[in-house]
Amino acid sequence: MKAAVWHGQRDVRIEDVSEPPAPPPGQVQVSVAWCGICGTDLHEYVGGPLYIPLHKPHLLTGVQAPVIIGHEMAGTVIEVGDGVKGFAVGDRVAACPIIGCGRCRWCLSGSMAQCDRVAFLGTSWTGGALAGRLNLNAYQCFHLPGSISDEVGALVEPFSATVRAVERSGANSGDNVAIIGTGPIGLMALMAARIRGAKRVVAFEIAQKRIEAARLCGADAVIDPLTVDAESAGLEATGGEGFDVVIECAGQPATVLMAGRLTRTRGKLVIMGVFEKPAALDLTDIVFREKSVIGSMSGYGLYDETIRMMTDARFRADVLITDHIGLDELISKGYHGLLHETENHVKILVRPE
Ligand SMILES: [Zn+2]
Ligand SMILES: [Zn+2]
Repeated sequence: MKAAVWHGQRDVRIEDVSEPPAPPPGQVQVSVAWCGICGTDLHEYVGGPLYIPLHKPHLLTGVQAPVIIGHEMAGTVIEVGDGVKGFAVGDRVAACPIIGCGRCRWCLSGSMAQCDRVAFLGTSWTGGALAGRLNLNAYQCFHLPGSISDEVGALVEPFSATVRAVERSGANSGDNVAIIGTGPIGLMALMAARIRGAKRVVAFEIAQKRIEAARLCGADAVIDPLTVDAESAGLEATGGEGFDVVIECAGQPATVLMAGRLTRTRGKLVIMGVFEKPAALDLTDIVFREKSVIGSMSGYGLYDETIRMMTDARFRADVLITDHIGLDELISKGYHGLLHETENHVKILVRPE
């Protein structure tokens, strides 16, 4: 079968690889329908390895580069290993990329993403999802209802991460929520806040097409920090208080500083952005006004809830999916589009076969 294999920085090859063996006990084999390209895939390609084990094997899985990449997937179960309950051949599933040791305090308390030896589909697992088929632990698989297509199913993983961020923020129906940056994750965080019933959702974004996308995804207002003073506009939008919840999705030093200031007294600042270097917050402001700063990273544990939320009409997959490509076009159209035509793309889906 064909697969996308990461060999090194700027060295991802579409290769013929052998098919995975029959699934061992506890695992299922899934034929991949669609796999999305994630921001972390671009980081691995341009600046990696970040999470791909290069010089020594992964502690839990023994996997080491070259590895088959890809983790935002939906597909169909084609073989079921011994001891698997709840899955049968023909079931359509989305996959959670987290693989834990199953023995540590985090794994045993339902927080497998925090496992010290955690492995991740597409970086340190036996096979990633940019391939015709792969083996997954049954616990990584979640049933897709008939109302969610395979394409939309490929969005479950990134959307779950934003559902988690909204959950971590404790946002409720009376809250004003700000979303900083409306790239793929920001747009999904916006919809997660909307579907969870936030009172008002205001996006902060500078790129014209993303401003339009934020409106389509349900933003009550979009503030462009290039044309207005973002902090005073944010205060004005909230009756002078600041936002109950601010979700930072841009990962820039300037945006996180702004995000902190836009948070109200005793409000919550949730950081989802991926930062290349440590960035500053106005800590005196955080201390004096007793703001909470919260990191949020994976949707582990919230997949069924995420899939339910995606059946809501306010989940606009049509705004998120901006292209469909074949595996051979991964670099030329996929990576190139997301790196160099940023404004035209949100999520690009790849069909591996
Ligand atoms: Zn991802
Ligand atoms: Zn563990």
